Amino acid sequence: MEFIEINNVFKVYKNGVSALADISLKISKGDFVFIIGQSGSGKSTLTKLLYREEKPNRGSVFVGGINVGKLRNGNVYKLRRKIGVVFQDFKLLPKLTVYENVAYPLESYGMTKSEIRERVKKALDRVHLKDKMRSYPNQLSGGEQQRVCIARAIVNEPKLIICDEPTGDLDPKMSKEIMDVIEEINKDLGSTIIMATHDKTIVDKMKKRVIYLKDGVLISDKKKGTYVEDESV
Ligand code: ADP
Repeated sequence: MEFIEINNVFKVYKNGVSALADISLKISKGDFVFIIGQSGSGKSTLTKLLYREEKPNRGSVFVGGINVGKLRNGNVYKLRRKIGVVFQDFKLLPKLTVYENVAYPLESYGMTKSEIRERVKKALDRVHLKDKMRSYPNQLSGGEQQRVCIARAIVNEPKLIICDEPTGDLDPKMSKEIMDVIEEINKDLGSTIIMATHDKTIVDKMKKRVIYLKDGVLISDKKKGTYVEDESV
């Protein structure tokens, strides 16, 4: 079985909106995959199915052998520990320092303070922010804040990192910094990366697998793809 398998998935929200229709795809361990498509095409919904923020109405979603849709609520934490998530709006806790924001997810793991310290420093080192450990989020640039979010997402060295429009609020220079860091993590840690984005420049430059959604339907899936929205062009 592949690391991620999505089989004939349908998602209809309670208000009747059909967000995904008959999606099937497989992703191997260590892959780097973009999910592209216009706003409202179902990119976020697809990522939410992977970390059980949403459940499919039909079909199955497997991550690392776990049947995500069927997972009991009490076991969702086991899945979430395998996954790091990075959002467009950073979701950092403003009253905590950079260090504390990154350490926060580890606090439920029963680690010693020195184990936590070691991991947090390593994660901040990977995103080149060790020297900002004692700063607060509002003392950082947008790109730096997003790198803190990446550190927080990788502090547990998860097998899967999901990024939902991580460069959506950043200028091109900061976006490049973010992409460089994520690519390093993909290479160095071997984490699988799934990134929803409509940043054409980034997708074209990276030459990774590109899955294109339109109105909840998978239109194309290309190895080393570019950002082409309309297949007829
Ligand atoms: P994208 O990430 O590509 O912008 P989304 O997955 O967020 O797309 O949304 C797909 C469709 O589902 C859109 O029509 C959106 O309005 C709808 N949608 C998303 N989340 C919800 C929700 N919680 N309740 C109802 N409809 C939703």
